[in-house]
Amino acid sequence: MHLFRKCPGRCCIYLPAMKEKTKIILKSGKDDAIKRYHPWVFSGAIKKITGQPTEGSPVEVFSNKDEYLGTGLYQDASIAVRIMEFAPQRPENFDNDFWYQKLNEAFQLRRIADLTENEHTNVYRLIHGEGDHLPGLIIDFYNGNLVIQAHAIGIHLHREKIAEGLQKLYGNNLKSIYYKSRETLPGKFSDTNEAEGFLFGNNPGDVVLEYGNKFEIDFIHGQKTGFFIDQRENRKLLTKYAKDKTLLNTFCYSGGFSVYALQAGAKKVESLDSSKKALELAEKNVKLNFSDTSNHSVIHADAIQFMRENREMYDIIILDPPAFAKHSNVRHNAVQGYKRLNAEAIRQISESGLLFTFSCSQVVNMNLFKSTVIAAAIQAGRKVKILHQMTQPADHPVNAFHPEGEYLKGLVLYID
Ligand code: SAH
Repeated sequence: MHLFRKCPGRCCIYLPAMKEKTKIILKSGKDDAIKRYHPWVFSGAIKKITGQPTEGSPVEVFSNKDEYLGTGLYQDASIAVRIMEFAPQRPENFDNDFWYQKLNEAFQLRRIADLTENEHTNVYRLIHGEGDHLPGLIIDFYNGNLVIQAHAIGIHLHREKIAEGLQKLYGNNLKSIYYKSRETLPGKFSDTNEAEGFLFGNNPGDVVLEYGNKFEIDFIHGQKTGFFIDQRENRKLLTKYAKDKTLLNTFCYSGGFSVYALQAGAKKVESLDSSKKALELAEKNVKLNFSDTSNHSVIHADAIQFMRENREMYDIIILDPPAFAKHSNVRHNAVQGYKRLNAEAIRQISESGLLFTFSCSQVVNMNLFKSTVIAAAIQAGRKVKILHQMTQPADHPVNAFHPEGEYLKGLVLYID
């Protein structure tokens, strides 16, 4: 229904007026971060809300002096608004056009990064939340299949429009769109049938290529969206060093690092994970790439316990654990965990060997991770050189105004 208001000028026609959006007014001084394009409004920064926003509804954000700052999606949580568009842009609503434009901007970035028409790699992240100015939204591309993951209710409510934008963007190249948000949405939204299912097509899995290596992806049962795309460049780096080496790939999931090491001519590769399903995937992927798999084996174990008890030495060890700290209040425990794990690994590396060690905890930054790993080297009593310092690839961009988005840290250590 249109709302009408009287023309304030001399003409007497009636003009349709924009439906008033809920207005969020910030406390004095709380507009600085938003003016610097940080996309989150914390509930504690809000002075007043005019109207009653519903979960996931569009809202406009204003400073204490009534300056318009941006338009976002509301949630009754610590992050109360995720800004989707900053001033002077002021979208009337988040319609199909809005989503298509945003998706296309992100697609163009992947095109520049040589990911969209690459004959050796057909798996990449299309939308990386805040890094693509779409907070709360993750979309991964798997050889024509897209997996959408919503981390915010506003994104969940717009999933059909996002899917329509994706169909327009990929056209005939699109095989399926799977929506997978059961683990990332808050309770009452994650418990419904709408939290997971196909929004287009119904392809439950596919084989993708990453630098020419084949991986089978199970969108429905796999962890996260099905694959850890963020390790692509770090797996590639391993190929420089793996020839003729013995290698232990802990926290291996679907065997990414193992396949690359075998491709590079590793002598022996052991893939370790606490999940049987992950190990099945790792074995499948090794078979998919090599006719002779006799130099690969799997170990079903808790990595931390295994590292504590193992006495075998390896030329290369990979440590890629899940995030030890999800919040800053458990950062200290996480740091202790990283230190113990890295110290054990450093002890088990042969002379002139390498450790590829990672942290994907957002609250542990590179400086802290590096000093933790150095403390582990001191504890292990080995001489250590840092050869490489790694991060996430270009399809996981970091919004410069939201440094929290820089979550993946990695080091390659040379152990004398
Ligand atoms: N390196 C992988 C991604 C790792 S994801 C890749 O390149 O694809 C983290 C993995 O750690 C998951 O597969 C999970 O099952 C496994 N995991 C979690 N806790 C574990 C533990 N305590 N011991 C061994 N594996 C664990």
